Amino acid sequence: MTDLLQTLGVGLDATGERPTPDARIPHHSRAYRCRCGAAVFFDNTRCLACQSELGYLLDEGRLATLEQSSESRAWRADGRSEPLKFCANRQAAAACNWMLFAASPKTHCAACRLNHAIPDLGDAENVRYWRALEGAKRRLVSQLIAMGLPVRSKADEDPEKGVMFDFLRSPKDGPRPSRKCPPRAASTRSRRSRPRNDFASWA
Ligand SMILES: [Zn+2]
Ligand SMILES: [Zn+2]
Repeated sequence: MTDLLQTLGVGLDATGERPTPDARIPHHSRAYRCRCGAAVFFDNTRCLACQSELGYLLDEGRLATLEQSSESRAWRADGRSEPLKFCANRQAAAACNWMLFAASPKTHCAACRLNHAIPDLGDAENVRYWRALEGAKRRLVSQLIAMGLPVRSKADEDPEKGVMFDFLRSPKDGPRPSRKCPPRAASTRSRRSRPRNDFASWA
């Protein structure tokens, strides 16, 4: 129970209730207000008006203005007392703005922990693609959580029922996205008769 997602999961398990549609509305909103009053948005890491650092609090479903303690160097969010820290992917191309409790042994947030494979970041195009994918993934994960669905990492939390992302890209001489579907005869074979590596040949 050391990170925001776990805290939220315990809360949902305890009530056993899904949020009502009205209760969910604030969680789906993607526009927030900085402490200075300026509009800030889901993916922002900094307020352009007052330059305050911003962080997303998964358990509240909101983007909060942050302040850094001069002693501990930990961050505090408006309206919260717990010391917080950035996800390790904040400075990466993923530009993740999600927060964890400072005391958590984890370094990556609940969304970034779902990654199993990411592209080779030595390629500038991959960097651009990955950044866009991560933004979309954070929106998806925040919405799943707001709907009361469990989202745990298959990579290191729940190997059986967890969720995991492999962000892969075909090599230049590899399979193309426009590759045709397999012949009909192959697709009508019963599942049992398919070779076990059927999927791998198309991956
Ligand atoms: Zn501001
Ligand atoms: Zn993250």
